[in-house]
Amino acid sequence: NADAAMYRAKDTGKNNVQFYTQEMNASLEEKLALMEGLRTALHGEQFLVQYQPKVRLETGRVFGVEALLRWRHPERGMMPPDQFIPLAEESGAIVAIGEWVLLTACRQGRAWQDMGLHPITISVNVSPRQFDDARLVARVRRALEISGLDPKWLELEVTESLIMRDLQQSVAKMRELKAMGISLSIDDFGTGYSSLAALKSFPISSLKIDKSFVRDLDTNSDDQAIARAIISLSHQLQLRVIAEGVETTQQRSFLHESGCHDMQGYLFSRPVAPELIQGMLEGQADAEMPEWSMA
Ligand code: C2E
Ligand code: MG
Ligand code: MG
Ligand code: MG
Repeated sequence: NADAAMYRAKDTGKNNVQFYTQEMNASLEEKLALMEGLRTALHGEQFLVQYQPKVRLETGRVFGVEALLRWRHPERGMMPPDQFIPLAEESGAIVAIGEWVLLTACRQGRAWQDMGLHPITISVNVSPRQFDDARLVARVRRALEISGLDPKWLELEVTESLIMRDLQQSVAKMRELKAMGISLSIDDFGTGYSSLAALKSFPISSLKIDKSFVRDLDTNSDDQAIARAIISLSHQLQLRVIAEGVETTQQRSFLHESGCHDMQGYLFSRPVAPELIQGMLEGQADAEMPEWSMA
């Protein structure tokens, strides 16, 4: 098998035979095995969605949740998305998997409302391949119809780099999605490179400050400046701004004092099973002084 790979490399004519080592062969095989596993994981019901609260400090309440996909792999156990989303993106499996996440999250959002809980926004991540899919708009509409979730409670999170690949086409598609009544948010903001001119044209309602700027906020003055700049930019453009990856009370205080009042991170809650979100929503329904209030 190793030899076959060597010959294939040779056949491409370039002098790249030296790059094929035993180790790379093993990881290629591993990658192919994972891709094959991904093909059947949906039918095998190996995926699950966890939800991470988004907290608004003025009220101390959970105002939304982000749906985060996990793969319960039959041999490897629970796998985080970074280990398989890129592969699903590469193979195209992400389109079907993403549609399942969308439907699952919309149904969950509707189910919480049917329990009489105060409605919250459900955010779902969308990757480039999903976004490019010609049927994305139809798929979103279908998920809303099947679940019965009012579009105003659904938000899609897209990244700047996704949008910037083809700015005009992306903005057109975002407008189409927005016209359906859902909202859009820019994930990992600050790590891509959208110009301010482009940002102005995005039909979005919020920016998410990437967690890489939040991590070292206590000590890194550059990150402090960047976080403040993103917060002020959001205010100027009349967008909501949320910080992701908030883990400490110091980070929370800095962001709060800088004018960012929506937060997400381990300080508040990790991504959890839907039953735990239900518990939080029930708890805050009758609490006089909500848990995360900064008032
Ligand atoms: P993301 O959308 O930027 O999600 C935030 C990630 O940060 C999540 O990782 C979350 O668990 C993690 N996180 C939240 N709070 C904290 C914190 O306080 N500290 C630290 N260190 N991390 C925190 P996760 O769940 O592993 O997801 C990673 C990425 O995978 C996501 O980044 C998103 O890009 C992608 N992803 C997850 N679910 C889906 C999905 O259903 N579809 C698509 N297309 N992508 C998904
Ligand atoms: Mg996200
Ligand atoms: Mg993010
Ligand atoms: Mg991120």
